[in-house]
Amino acid sequence: MGSGENDTLLQPEPEDITLAIPTNLSALFKDLVLLYARTEIQYPQLKAVTLAQWILESGWGESNLAKNHYNFGGLKWRTEMTGFATRILYQANDGPDYYCQFAGLERFIRGYWRFIDRSPYTGWEERTDSGEEFIRFVGPVYSPSPGYVDRVLALVDEAQILLDNAAEPVIAPIESPSLRGTVVLDPGHGGTRKIGGSSPNNAISASGIKEKTMTLEIALLIRDALQQIAAQNGYDLRVVLTRTADVNVGIAERANLASVERADLFLSIHFNGFNKQTSGVETYIRARTNGNVNFEEDEAFAWRIQGAVLGALRTYLPGTRDRGVKEDTASGGGVLGVLDDRALGNSSQEYPCRACLVEIEFIDVPRVDRLLNTDAQARQVRGAIAEAIAAAMVEDLQAAR
Ligand SMILES: [Zn+2]
Repeated sequence: MGSGENDTLLQPEPEDITLAIPTNLSALFKDLVLLYARTEIQYPQLKAVTLAQWILESGWGESNLAKNHYNFGGLKWRTEMTGFATRILYQANDGPDYYCQFAGLERFIRGYWRFIDRSPYTGWEERTDSGEEFIRFVGPVYSPSPGYVDRVLALVDEAQILLDNAAEPVIAPIESPSLRGTVVLDPGHGGTRKIGGSSPNNAISASGIKEKTMTLEIALLIRDALQQIAAQNGYDLRVVLTRTADVNVGIAERANLASVERADLFLSIHFNGFNKQTSGVETYIRARTNGNVNFEEDEAFAWRIQGAVLGALRTYLPGTRDRGVKEDTASGGGVLGVLDDRALGNSSQEYPCRACLVEIEFIDVPRVDRLLNTDAQARQVRGAIAEAIAAAMVEDLQAAR
């Protein structure tokens, strides 16, 4: 190739190109920057100066060669480009000529470096200490336009800014969730008839609100809180309820849902009632003597729930009593069917499901009823309990990994 022959498209006048990064930079050019920022090249210190060249040659990606042929460098066709580009006849501002057409952005980037690695630029690899050294060497051949090198150098800072910004991931990488699990929430009681050992209601609050209504409402709040935690952290959490309406479900059927759903956690939710004076939070687990195959796991889960409920209540009622985690032998009937391991899907060989039953408070106590149901901030208190329980369940899922 003769030295007087232009290797690339002659550039428009300097005032035609803005030095500042245009606010309406095209998606195509942004994609080019993003790809170049992530592409490994032999001399990464030359990325900014070569991108500056492409900015100048393509007018920030707006030239027809760029938009139609992925040719951001104004590269004319040369036979050495065979395999990197195809030849197209293009009517440029300095007359018709053959130019390189690239199949895409990646092909252009590779093609540009192939273009430089031809005989007119022999020795370029000894001029790679800096972008300026490189462009002062290749520039006069690349484009004999007067002042070409200075015009490229004037764009290097902007090119570097684009590359630096592109180095930040634009979208979060798609990863498998850091936590996954299935949770069954069991709002106690429901409906109007006793079904499969489940009474329709047990406790009634001092103001007349039924336990079955409160258990369902708090279960739905826990579900919301769990789904919010999952959404915020990218967790894959499935939340299943044994009932979502005022209907009763048999005891065994409730526990069996954990088995069917292959749940990691089963939480039965109740409120207590006794003599309008006894109060406090207590959580039950299957006793060893009742055949618990994963007592330690249940116990750890139960203490998390117990602590969560207690903590939330004590924020509003500091004297709230901690009645502790108890074995179900200490419950009224000596056994709680909803904590039956076999129904939950656990055996002595495999016990994927941790289970407990929380009695949140004694709602027949007027002080407790006001706190949970009738005070101005009652709704807020119930929300706080639900959020604390949800956080405790997530903590238990994390601990079990
Ligand atoms: Zn109950």
